[in-house]
Amino acid sequence: MEDRLVPVGKPQVEKVETGVVTTGKATRVVEIYNQDETECITIGASGSTRTPEVCDIISSFVKIPPDKIQLVSKVGVFPIKQRLSDEVASKVIALGVKSFHRPVQQYPHPIVVIGAGLGGMQTMISFKKAGRKDLICLERLGAFGGHSWIVVSNKYTKLQTESGNYHVDFFLPDAPATTEVEGDAYKTWPTRDQLLKMFREAARIHELGPLTRFHTHVDKIRPLPDGSGYAVHTFPSNNEDAEGELIVASAVITWPGNLCKYRELEWPGEEDFGGYIAYASFSMVDYREAEGKVCILYGHGAFTIENVRTLCEHRCKKVIVMCRKRNLCGMRVMSWLVGFLENPVPGTILLEGFQKMYDLVGFDCWSAHCVKTDEKRSYAQITQRTAFGVTDVYFLAGYYGLMEVLVDEIKRLTNGCAQTKKGKKIKCQLILKAVGVTPDPQKDKMLGLKELVGLWVNGDPLRPVCCNGMFVEAQNFGSFSSGPSFVSSVRIFRWFVDYPADFEIVRGILPKLRPSPEQPAYVPGARHLMPTFTAMNMVPMLGAELAVAGAQKHIKQQSRHPLKHYLSECRNEWQAYIRQWKKDGMIDESKPEPPYPYTEEMVQSWIDRTNMEWMRKAAMASQRQQQLSG
Ligand SMILES: Cc1cc2nc3c(=O)[nH]c(=O)nc-3n(C[C@H](O)[C@H](O)[C@H](O)COP(=O)(O)OP(=O)(O)OC[C@H]3O[C@@H](n4cnc5c(N)ncnc54)[C@H](O)[C@@H]3O)c2cc1C
Repeated sequence: MEDRLVPVGKPQVEKVETGVVTTGKATRVVEIYNQDETECITIGASGSTRTPEVCDIISSFVKIPPDKIQLVSKVGVFPIKQRLSDEVASKVIALGVKSFHRPVQQYPHPIVVIGAGLGGMQTMISFKKAGRKDLICLERLGAFGGHSWIVVSNKYTKLQTESGNYHVDFFLPDAPATTEVEGDAYKTWPTRDQLLKMFREAARIHELGPLTRFHTHVDKIRPLPDGSGYAVHTFPSNNEDAEGELIVASAVITWPGNLCKYRELEWPGEEDFGGYIAYASFSMVDYREAEGKVCILYGHGAFTIENVRTLCEHRCKKVIVMCRKRNLCGMRVMSWLVGFLENPVPGTILLEGFQKMYDLVGFDCWSAHCVKTDEKRSYAQITQRTAFGVTDVYFLAGYYGLMEVLVDEIKRLTNGCAQTKKGKKIKCQLILKAVGVTPDPQKDKMLGLKELVGLWVNGDPLRPVCCNGMFVEAQNFGSFSSGPSFVSSVRIFRWFVDYPADFEIVRGILPKLRPSPEQPAYVPGARHLMPTFTAMNMVPMLGAELAVAGAQKHIKQQSRHPLKHYLSECRNEWQAYIRQWKKDGMIDESKPEPPYPYTEEMVQSWIDRTNMEWMRKAAMASQRQQQLSG
């Protein structure tokens, strides 16, 4: 229909997306056409916005000096030159601008992506969809899905956060939320095997297979002496005798993962213990050993939480979680909430929600070692050296006495007994060590990383590196899942490969981090990441694109996991565990069944209060702005 309205001989106008670009207080929209009138962009302007301001905006993304752009107003048939003192007209042609699409940097060598986990796959797809053809993905393992899901997890592991924001396609704004994988329903909390199917299916649909070299270990990456690219030294990971290969790349984007090695730990007397001892990750536990036994699960990180569920499902008689510090873990509803809201949830509201579950196990989460607050509890800063594990079963098991947390440490083991530093003697038959999975400092060496500038190796826009966050360090919470945070990194990385000159806008304000033996630099903490992402708002257009990521997260969560349905899934699962434990004779039947601690009204009130809080902050910021300007 629209096509027929275009006069013969006059080209159709393409609307070019610029994100939200405005000058000061926008009260009207200005349409700007390129010189052939084949493209059009819109910006927000006020009544008094003058032409130089608009030329500056156009210049910032077409990269033509503002004095080379002449605005001509488009009124009737006669074009009228706009003078510097003129208020900008509502429709203008920008003479000197051939196209609003910025030409992207072209490269002589391939763009190399290291890692075929979630981050690497999304990066490959992002470049591919943007029209880049010369791409290579290098992966040490033999399949898509990454070390996290192929090696670290086991066949009982499930996604703890919701699947709505955990899918390879999640970062694509227009991709619908996935409900099916290889013909089966993509469950709300998929198992490891289903996640691996999801990765495989995404690779097939996006045709990543032909671009990926499996069993290829990257040994080191070094800039070529003439500055024309990078030498990527590789060798086959499945054949030590085979020769390595050198790949010359124009850009290297690395998603190496941070869950590399399990932390080792040994106690005196392990050989006398006589029971079963194993590390809790890397598929090293035979959970059949757990039935009817008392287990000490040592540590209190996200893997511990996952193991509480798995042990209870294997009819463990009692799980004693022993830890030096009791970290906080999240629960399903609160994970949903942070994944649903466009704005981050304040720590105070988060802890109010946490407490509903913590009441079941008689623990005041405000008193946790990781929470900093004031007398009025007007804020909550949570800092812990592990991500939030997300679980409901941990709390239900705690309520029924199937699980208990002991803040203590094992001093030594004797036959069937753990002696603790606080002087306890605990009879047990099983000990699982879950004291964390750590990053590999070797990765810094592989990258030749001397200083991480933002997320860029040695401040080079063509060499970004990224992993999912390992720790909690925040007062406001935007997601418990890697899904939403990867969206921004993937977009930012492609931006600077496309427009490397833009990196100079942020170089000076990016935080810097040097590697240390305790903390590899390729895995920075929140204090480094927050200012890095904030700095991206300085880059015209990129900042605007990133601003819509929150809305995208909200829309997808809403469509894939509507609150009512999500709550009923949580409730059903809660009751299913109670039924199963009763059937297996694991719990005291006379103890009253705890109702699921969350209702729709509660969650709605946290949604409303979070939104109100951000509206209040926005109003205060605008008031301050007004005071400053007049
Ligand atoms: C048990 C478990 C449960 C989890 N649950 C959740 C959850 O519920 N929600 C959530 O959001 N996240 C969860 N995660 C976190 C998970 O790690 C991330 O969500 C995500 O999968 C990380 O992807 P990645 O691409 O950054 O890293 P990885 O999956 O680790 O992939 C990195 C890849 O890079 C390759 N690589 C590294 N170095 C080299 C080299 N030198 N040469 C060649 N290849 C190399 C590795 O082989 C690896 O395959 C969980 C992780 C685990 C282990």
